[in-house]
Amino acid sequence: MSFIPCDTSMIALVDCNDFYASCERVFDPRLIGRPVGVLSNNDGCIIARSAELKAMNIEMGTPLFQIQALERKGCIALRSSNYALYGDLSARVMQILDEFSPGVERYSIDEAFLDLAGMQSPEEICRQIVHKVPVYTGIPVSVGAAPSKTLAKVASHLAKKQAGRKGICVFHSANDPELINWLNTLAIEHIWGIGKRLGRKLRQHGIETALQLREADHNWLKRHFSVPVKRTAMELNGTNCLTLDDTPDPRQNIMCSRSFQKATNSLTDLKEAIRFHAQTACQKLRKQNGLAQAILVSVRTNSHRFEPQHKEARAWALPVASDDSALIIRYAQEQLEQIWQPGFRYRKAGVMLLDIIPWRPMQLGLFEHQQKEKKDQEHKRRNLMHTLDKLNDRIGRDAIGFGLSREQADWKMKMAYRSPRYTTCWNEIPVVKAN
Ligand SMILES: [Mg+2]
Repeated sequence: MSFIPCDTSMIALVDCNDFYASCERVFDPRLIGRPVGVLSNNDGCIIARSAELKAMNIEMGTPLFQIQALERKGCIALRSSNYALYGDLSARVMQILDEFSPGVERYSIDEAFLDLAGMQSPEEICRQIVHKVPVYTGIPVSVGAAPSKTLAKVASHLAKKQAGRKGICVFHSANDPELINWLNTLAIEHIWGIGKRLGRKLRQHGIETALQLREADHNWLKRHFSVPVKRTAMELNGTNCLTLDDTPDPRQNIMCSRSFQKATNSLTDLKEAIRFHAQTACQKLRKQNGLAQAILVSVRTNSHRFEPQHKEARAWALPVASDDSALIIRYAQEQLEQIWQPGFRYRKAGVMLLDIIPWRPMQLGLFEHQQKEKKDQEHKRRNLMHTLDKLNDRIGRDAIGFGLSREQADWKMKMAYRSPRYTTCWNEIPVVKAN
């Protein structure tokens, strides 16, 4: 058994409860206590549910026509998705979280990690968060805190599910008996970042619970599985070793963002960064055969500096669910133009794809001739995207894409000491000289 004691770090995960339904309730209090469902683009199917709707066993993805009768009878309330509202309320929640910790990392539209290391009483901070966020925004939240992100995720689950906890669950140590008991019952597939496929493989080696994974030999895990699996095991042991870039994408979201090498106010620079992130996100999206229904674009200045601060995020619905890089880049850049402001030195920009659904052919028009024309068009776009992905897989990441980005742009990562990309970049292949 390997155990690395490390109780100095303390990470909180703040999660908005039933976020979309809660946003709808803020401005329509009649919805409080009622079963509320939020519909996908064009009112296709359910993409978010209030607790009351979940209790009625109405599943995610249920098509509108199956529940329209319930709505007409007044048994349930339905709302079309309103991403502009959700994006704005999300930004307000994040703004309040900034008051509690200098290290806030947005993880999805309704979740953020807070660094609480060295703070006197994590419980007290969690209590204040659970009290203040709903008072200021109308959105109820729950908080789980523990020495690592993966354990914070476990704690957050308990905070939400166990009513007696009043939305708060704090584990000061990875050796908390209650936590160990819970890890003993937590199925391997349900651990953050493991999932079904890896879970099946781990089960073949007799690792069936979170506790068994944490107690497995970490080097063996690295050899037989991968570094991320080893890291997950270390995280379960209380070692905080995941940066936000390593964290698994939130369910139904894909997030791409990064801090810039140098802060910049140039809209051109930011547009370039957004274009880059949107492309990476779309590549991931197509790999998992999904379609995004909305996007969230965010920018922020460096909060550790004494200079004018600006932080904003905006969510927007796509006209149809899509995996098309060109379309998503265009929308993302339009959103960026709305939130960018002169006079601020931005340090980070990101794109998040929201409410991902499995790929399916879209209904493209009412009439046959319209459908055929649009189908041909869509077919061509899909081919183009797949060709791009294939070329990038073969030649190297970002070999082909939309728009050129300058090698020395301010928004790019600092990599002054990077060795040449010998095997993936044509320009950096080693050169052999014979005299
Ligand atoms: Mg949530």
